[in-house]
Amino acid sequence: MRLVKQNFHTHTNFCDGANSVEEMTQAAIKCGLTSLGFSSHAYTPHDESYCMKLEDYEKYRDEVLSAKEKYKSQIKIYLGIEQDYYSVPPTIDLDYIIGSVHYVEKDGVITPVDETREHIENAVKNIYGDIYTFIEKYYQTVADVVNKTNCDIIGHFDLCEKFNGDGTLFDRENPRYINAYKKAVDQLIPSGKIFEINTGAMARGYTDFPYPHKNILDYISKCGGKFIISSDSHSVDTVDYKLESVYNYASTILNLNLITK
Ligand SMILES: [Zn+2]
Ligand SMILES: [Zn+2]
Repeated sequence: MRLVKQNFHTHTNFCDGANSVEEMTQAAIKCGLTSLGFSSHAYTPHDESYCMKLEDYEKYRDEVLSAKEKYKSQIKIYLGIEQDYYSVPPTIDLDYIIGSVHYVEKDGVITPVDETREHIENAVKNIYGDIYTFIEKYYQTVADVVNKTNCDIIGHFDLCEKFNGDGTLFDRENPRYINAYKKAVDQLIPSGKIFEINTGAMARGYTDFPYPHKNILDYISKCGGKFIISSDSHSVDTVDYKLESVYNYASTILNLNLITK
């Protein structure tokens, strides 16, 4: 019997996912999930390449609600959204919001954190001066994500790890890095919001560990944070990617406070 029966971070072809609401629902049922939350990327005016179009919000809601009705005897479906720090506020009623930081802004220049390693290296060279200044700005933005997006779940807390799987982009033991993430955790903990453990970068072959990295998980846990595991799936073959093994890792090894329902 599976341990993790839910996934609340799911993309479709309404944003940068490969499959439809219907296909993702069927895939979730097939792999034994009993709850599925859709979290299309909310519209970000400065970057339309990966997100939902503003004019599609109602269509997205209607498709999710019709799948909810059609498959109600097999799976519980929830209507959510992944709000970026720079997204416009939602225009439809939602069951929940994931709040995520995908960009860092300085002097009017917005740099994507998860697009390519080159984007980060160029921004460091031309704007920030060193990687830790970039990362400090990233975590300052993350620290404000609940306030800005009114989210229920804090998405992929250390997205800056995406291109650091081999540890060569920055050093996790650097005191500036540690201080930056601790400050963000300290600021977010009083909100009581749930931190996400996200296997998305593992599914795409970038890292062999979920977000957040173990050091950060330990710190959030020590501060009393709650967690939810999700796959951040963009296609039918990754709906439940590593949810079981990460659950074992997170609950047995780290003894975390996990929300599984
Ligand atoms: Zn995201
Ligand atoms: Zn996502």
